[in-house]
Amino acid sequence: MTEKLYYKDIHKTEFEARVLEALNEKNTWKVILDKTCFFPEGGGQPADKGWLNNIPVLDVRKEGDTIVHLLPENPGNGTVKGKIDPVWRKDFMQQHTGQHIISAALWTIGKYKTVSVHMGLEYTTVELEAPEISEQDIIDAEKLANRVISNDIPLSFIEADPEELEKFNLRKPTDREGKIRLVKIGDFDCAACGGMHLDSTRQVGLVKAVGIEKIRGNTRIAWKIGERAYDDYRKKDKIISSLKSVLSTNEDMFVEKTRELMEDISSCRRKYGSIENRLAEILAQDLFKNQLPAPDSSFHIITESWQEEENELLKKIMKNLVKNEKTLVCLVNVFPDKVQWSIGCSEDIVFPFDEVKAELLSIIDGKGGGRHPLWQGTGLNPRGTADFLARFRSSVK
Ligand SMILES: [Zn+2]
Repeated sequence: MTEKLYYKDIHKTEFEARVLEALNEKNTWKVILDKTCFFPEGGGQPADKGWLNNIPVLDVRKEGDTIVHLLPENPGNGTVKGKIDPVWRKDFMQQHTGQHIISAALWTIGKYKTVSVHMGLEYTTVELEAPEISEQDIIDAEKLANRVISNDIPLSFIEADPEELEKFNLRKPTDREGKIRLVKIGDFDCAACGGMHLDSTRQVGLVKAVGIEKIRGNTRIAWKIGERAYDDYRKKDKIISSLKSVLSTNEDMFVEKTRELMEDISSCRRKYGSIENRLAEILAQDLFKNQLPAPDSSFHIITESWQEEENELLKKIMKNLVKNEKTLVCLVNVFPDKVQWSIGCSEDIVFPFDEVKAELLSIIDGKGGGRHPLWQGTGLNPRGTADFLARFRSSVK
């Protein structure tokens, strides 16, 4: 059995202990001490981080009444010096104490029962046995929780026998056996819990609901608790300041202003699309009119290259060109380090792309493919563009 210093003094972060056992299993040392400040994983709360003789502790587990520390190296025999990460510990004590206050507040406000909790690195989530919860109830629970925090209520921890539980009015019944650890927040809340908590509510600082989602027919609320809530406030305040300058308006007008902008963008997109359609028609007509003579006059062969043109425009030009009878088109869009090509033909002719593919694409170090009546791809050699177009023209017999 390991003496649990973490329950005796929650603020103690450094300690000395005697090594009782150190076993090497698959390059990990399982170290058992006579006493420890390292809280093992439990109650939805992750294990403490820290060091034994300056060697990082990778994980801490509870095996019966024994606490096992997992290390990458042997910390040695005799006495070791232990130190837990105080920032990590404080953060999760805030999460855990905050969660008790939140669960009790939700119970008080609307008899919402907490069925599971998760303390992650970003949020602490509380899942309620309720298909939905009103926005007002969340606000009321949040206000009540913050009032309990500012009232600086001391927490007490009691080891109780199962038969004594009745007198404690537990928020949630427990079926644990043996001595049960109770966490009591004045007369506000009492719950069975083996996790790490602060010793007064004020140390939690602040709680804020930041998200809500449905899960398994229940409702899960995400919370920012303690330092995380202040950090979140600072982050959002910074975003609001930036948006004020970007949108040139105050925060009360953000939604309206953004909606206006979205409508403007949609309208511009529609107008741009119709102008682009018209432009594609005109450019296609010009290209068709100015086409070079084909080897076989029964065909129209059109080739053209552009520099860094909008792809959407080229697609529309292609679409317009192949509406002409007996027409074969090759369009190329040239960039400094690549070339995009497309070959299309009208429905009334057959272009044997597979026969010329290898030779044609090797000129621009290209790849791609497709099937009648459209083929497209890219090439890595823009300098081959003129040869590529010439070879395309000569491939039509
Ligand atoms: Zn707890």
